[in-house]
Amino acid sequence: MTIIQQSYTRLFPFKPFPYQTSLEYNRRLSPFNANIKLSKNTLSLHLNLQWKDIDDEIKIGLIQSLLLKILKTKSHTPNIDLYNNFIKNIPLLTENPKSHPLLEASFQRNNTQFFQNQLEQPNLLWGAQSLRKLAHYNFHNDTIVMSTAFQTAPQEMLDYIMYHEMLHKHLQFHQHNGRHSYHSPQFKHAENLYPNKAQIEQQIQQLIRTQKRTSTKTPSFWQVLLG
Ligand SMILES: [Zn+2]
Repeated sequence: MTIIQQSYTRLFPFKPFPYQTSLEYNRRLSPFNANIKLSKNTLSLHLNLQWKDIDDEIKIGLIQSLLLKILKTKSHTPNIDLYNNFIKNIPLLTENPKSHPLLEASFQRNNTQFFQNQLEQPNLLWGAQSLRKLAHYNFHNDTIVMSTAFQTAPQEMLDYIMYHEMLHKHLQFHQHNGRHSYHSPQFKHAENLYPNKAQIEQQIQQLIRTQKRTSTKTPSFWQVLLG
């Protein structure tokens, strides 16, 4: 059963499925866009390539939303809820966010020094002022988010954390499940190549401790806190 048929059958459990289906991923559609056409009894679904790695349950919600439009029917399913939540939780997708110059500069320094300028620049944004999660890379919208706790930190700290997140982007394509971030042996090996790594990590620990003095909890080991 194709995912289109599955989506339909969950919407209309008592109706037969009278269509042929075709599904195509492409890069022509804008980010996370999709459309469906019904012509000569064939339902043709086109999805932006970004959808490929998204969970089927969310995709089913998307397809159901499209089916309801094309069939001019209203209905509601748990999958449509999943889909709506998914879209809501990725506010960056449609806004085409501008990267911050300070983060861009850090990215470019690393890209030159360690990636032969081969890494395509993701969105680079400041996030919350978090000392728990220092930074993370979001595969779905290709965005590195950096804690604003590092906005005024020395450049070498920022660069090191940026390097860590850039490795996530760089290595995701060599991993079996690109949707998740791993600190694989390969990742750790690459991370260990960073000059003065131990020293910079100590400085970051120190910075966290200093900033945390006004707060309650102290992270025990900062490494586990990187996304
Ligand atoms: Zn990480």
